[in-house]
Amino acid sequence: MRAILFSFLLFLSITSVAQKLSISIFNDTNLNTILVTPTKGNYSMVLGDSMITIKPLQILYISRQGDSVLVRDENRSYGSFKRVTLVGQSGEDVFRLKPIIPAKPARLYDDNITFYVEFNRIMAINVIDREKYIAAVVLAETGPDKEPELYKAQALLARTFTVSHADKHQSEGFNLCDQEHCQAYKGRPEAFQDVYDAVLDVKDLIVVDSASRPISAAFHANCGGQTANSEDVWIQALPYLRSVNDRFCTSAPNARWERTIPLTEWKKFLAQQGVDTAKLIRENLNFYPKERPKYYTVLGVNIPTTTVRKYFKLRSAWFSVSAGKNEVRISGRGYGHGVGMCQDGAMAMAQRGWTYDKIIQYYFKDVKIIELSKVNLEPVKPDSTEVKPFDVLQ
Ligand SMILES: [Zn+2]
Ligand SMILES: [Zn+2]
Repeated sequence: MRAILFSFLLFLSITSVAQKLSISIFNDTNLNTILVTPTKGNYSMVLGDSMITIKPLQILYISRQGDSVLVRDENRSYGSFKRVTLVGQSGEDVFRLKPIIPAKPARLYDDNITFYVEFNRIMAINVIDREKYIAAVVLAETGPDKEPELYKAQALLARTFTVSHADKHQSEGFNLCDQEHCQAYKGRPEAFQDVYDAVLDVKDLIVVDSASRPISAAFHANCGGQTANSEDVWIQALPYLRSVNDRFCTSAPNARWERTIPLTEWKKFLAQQGVDTAKLIRENLNFYPKERPKYYTVLGVNIPTTTVRKYFKLRSAWFSVSAGKNEVRISGRGYGHGVGMCQDGAMAMAQRGWTYDKIIQYYFKDVKIIELSKVNLEPVKPDSTEVKPFDVLQ
């Protein structure tokens, strides 16, 4: 018993480059009552100092009782504990988790799960093999039935993000949350195997800059034909996030969009930006950029196109403006911030036989694809304190 617990503790003592990650699932939900059911493999349950075997398809009721976790099944109560952990024993273990209070759709997850009470809710920490996690993230970001080379390119970006942000929730005792705040993770997807095979083909590879530091792994749905420089969207100019022309995405549905905005609203916005709207004539509003614009300039006032995008919730910051009598017509290109890899372009490249490394090197300038074991992660955050091993059982 002690030996089993000890080895369990050992494998949860992980650093950011370890094979296992701890992810807070349903991190946006105040979990109070949950059903958990093993659906594949063999599970044991660690309850305080003891460990019991869970039968396949056995339904466990997990609920909060003060600052402890109460565990029951249909027949009996196992008692309440500070921590409850389901540990997969076969290496191919999957469980279903269904939040009851509040009610949410059930999801499947790989590997292990630990429950404890914090912030007046049950925390559910999925301790999962990194590559299985990457496969789930890739599918959440790209959708099913895509080209394997696109999955591989996306896997490199997801892995690069994962290893360089593994301390994002360190103070809370886990690596990453399952929300957009980190990377969207919705558990084991239905089309898991296709994506997982592609992910394993590029196992342990990440993308680094010329100084061998993990890159800022930006991507977006569609660039409209030209990607953006990082400093045009965010503050920092990164040498590998340069604007490139992209002829691959321009016939995808996301390449073009239209919006009509009442002239009064448009003028109100311009006034807020410091334009003297009393002097405006219609022609001053017209705007036909030949390439991805950084500013929309009206009567000498430079307004960042990203500001226009944010204010009117436009699909992208690349647009032209045609002023009518009572409204302005916005014709836009692309979908998303435009920095880094264009998913529609990458998909079209993959369909034409481009391999994942060529795709990555097209969208990121002077980067290298290297094995994780050869990366020194320390320079990523020179000002951060020493990264301590995580241990979700502490
Ligand atoms: Zn997060
Ligand atoms: Zn593109």
